[in-house]
Amino acid sequence: MYRIVVLPGDGIGPEVTQEALKVLRAVGERFGHRFAFEEHPFGGICIDQHGVALQPETLRRCRRAHAVLLGAVGGPKWDDPRAPVRPEQGLLALRKALRVYANLRPVRVYPELASASPLRPELLEGVDFIVVRELTGGLYFGKPKRQWDAPDGPRAVDTCLYRAHEIARVLRVGYQLARQRRRKLTSVDKANVLATSQLWRRIAQDLAREHPDVQTEHALVDSTAMALLSRPRSFDVLVMDNMFGDILTDEAAALAGSLGVMPSASLGDGKLGVYEPIHGTAPDIAGQGIANPLGSILSAAMLLRHSLDLPVEAAAVEAAVARVLAAGYRTADLAPPGQPTVGTAAMGDAVVAALAEVPAAAR
Ligand code: NAD
Repeated sequence: MYRIVVLPGDGIGPEVTQEALKVLRAVGERFGHRFAFEEHPFGGICIDQHGVALQPETLRRCRRAHAVLLGAVGGPKWDDPRAPVRPEQGLLALRKALRVYANLRPVRVYPELASASPLRPELLEGVDFIVVRELTGGLYFGKPKRQWDAPDGPRAVDTCLYRAHEIARVLRVGYQLARQRRRKLTSVDKANVLATSQLWRRIAQDLAREHPDVQTEHALVDSTAMALLSRPRSFDVLVMDNMFGDILTDEAAALAGSLGVMPSASLGDGKLGVYEPIHGTAPDIAGQGIANPLGSILSAAMLLRHSLDLPVEAAAVEAAVARVLAAGYRTADLAPPGQPTVGTAAMGDAVVAALAEVPAAAR
């Protein structure tokens, strides 16, 4: 029995999470596994119901689970930056408390979706890389972090702090992945300007010597932003700090055609992980039943692989998604103008149906 805590969150979070659960239930039936799902309010809805974005009891339940499946949090209702309680606080607190410091964001371009990307199809052929974003340090957590009124006007400060071990452990996750892939690692920094990046590069150089079987390159974040669009095929594993990863992975989503297809896994030293699509709550389409659930479904596949050690089942879900796209199913974010689309639930149903047909080899 696998215990999975489900935190659907706000906006389209519950809509897409519902479909991922549908697919996990189908995996359970097909492969003979039992999943116990328990749902808790998280983010904006939790603020409305309980006055906090993450309840202590929910956190306790997460700690005892095999994995956490998350939707997304936030929305216009809770967007006031001066509000004392904000949905993102739940997200940051959850990551910190569960010590999930490595956020894996695979970027794979399905050939059928090349037309949904603003890039030319020949640039996209064979694109398959993974970004490892440091998740619990850097600019998002460093103190002091505050705004105040100084005699010459309002001021604000954020602090980017990294300790050597925080950098080394996330780079090690990257090297582990590179060894299972094409053995190339790009360490991304801004070492020409930032002290934290100079430390990052020094540690990356040390680790490169420890991993002679992996080709390591050190790249500046600005040039990487361009290279992701001009030569995306050349990347295998990229490792970077919290903010660089936040920004570059949204850019990378343009390669995949839509934010809606991008999954993520947040991992620490143990097996417990947090799995969520990289998109937000999409208030512009929430409640319409048109959100793309594939990012959430592919996050569930990552959950099977990384937290439950079920790689065959994970591959089957990924194969089912590829089949559905090859068969022409498109949610509105993926369809060329004027082409027919399916809604969120129909896309989930199509993946469940395809799962039943995945050839034995993929199982
Ligand atoms: P967003 O990812 O919610 O949406 C950006 C655009 O992509 C929108 O046009 C949206 O309709 C579209 N989109 C996103 N996911 C989609 C899907 N699955 N299917 C189809 N289209 C999809 O980003 P945003 O608009 O900048 O943020 C909206 C809210 O979400 C904000 O409150 C923000 O703070 C929050 N947010 C939360 C997370 C998270 O929970 N991890 C991440 C990012 C943003």
